[in-house]
Amino acid sequence: MVRIIVSSKCSGCETCVNSCPVSVYEMKDGKSVPVRAEDCILCRTCESQCPEGAIQVIEGETEPAKVEEPKVEKAKKPEKSKIPKPAKLKKKSTLKGKKKK
Ligand code: SF4
Ligand code: SF4
Repeated sequence: MVRIIVSSKCSGCETCVNSCPVSVYEMKDGKSVPVRAEDCILCRTCESQCPEGAIQVIEGETEPAKVEEPKVEKAKKPEKSKIPKPAKLKKKSTLKGKKKK
């Protein structure tokens, strides 16, 4: 996951095109363009070699590629008032009141 930014300071010297070991850059209209940023191995040669300081290699980012997560609706809890109350149990008769023989 790499994002490469070439600023307008690029003078078109082609140093990055020739020094990148995995051929990330191509020249377009006299400027360097990172056309294969996904191949970048983060060696940072281009950043250090660029005489204009025009390159930024940012690790952990890609071009905006938003993936929306599917929406999962949570199960709603029933309202308290709709929960049936348990029937009250009648007290069992106890032995109270019965006299011992
Ligand atoms: S090394 Fe820098 S100035 Fe030269 S082409 Fe690449 S980005 Fe442009
Ligand atoms: S960091 Fe290395 S691999 Fe990545 S674009 Fe620059 S020179 Fe190429």
